[in-house]
Amino acid sequence: EALRSLLLSRIRDVPDYPKPGVVFKDITPLLADPTAFNALVDALAALAARHGADKVVGLEARGFILAAPAAARAGLGFVPVRKAGKLPGATLAQAYELEYGTAEIEVHQDAFAVGDRVLVIDDVLATGGTAEASLQLLRRTGAQIAGVAVLLELGFLGGRARLGPALGGAPLEAL
Ligand code: 5GP
Repeated sequence: EALRSLLLSRIRDVPDYPKPGVVFKDITPLLADPTAFNALVDALAALAARHGADKVVGLEARGFILAAPAAARAGLGFVPVRKAGKLPGATLAQAYELEYGTAEIEVHQDAFAVGDRVLVIDDVLATGGTAEASLQLLRRTGAQIAGVAVLLELGFLGGRARLGPALGGAPLEAL
């Protein structure tokens, strides 16, 4: 509860970003506060351990900022899921729907050993589309989903329900 209050106190609402009517949750004040950032990284690393993860996956771009230090603190490797065209090696790709148009994410084909359990980390769960596509992509690599962890879940957007089938019983943790 103390952690939750600390984290919430360092997330700033930015009205009308990236477009009118949207209130963007800005995590840069949290990242800039060493106490809050360290507590967040500790909590994410603890989730990786609790859910028996072998690797920690970060979603581009803010997911990288949280997942990489959490992986290192948990003693695990970090794997990036990137926007299309950014990874140099052989990749698997997954397309998904945006509000306008589609997007595509990729992961290296050889990022995981067979049966690796992965914890997927992003900063914010909104509609769940990004996390859903990531889980679909990761399953195609042969990885097992240990869980999804986010700093902040925007409950009113229904991401948790959308993510349900892709989670397949794995936990969704919102700090
Ligand atoms: P979704 O796919 O769940 O609709 O959107 C989640 C993705 O968009 C995440 O990768 C997240 O970084 C980004 N995102 C959407 N809304 C916000 C927001 O209000 N604040 C931040 N920091 N990221 C957001």
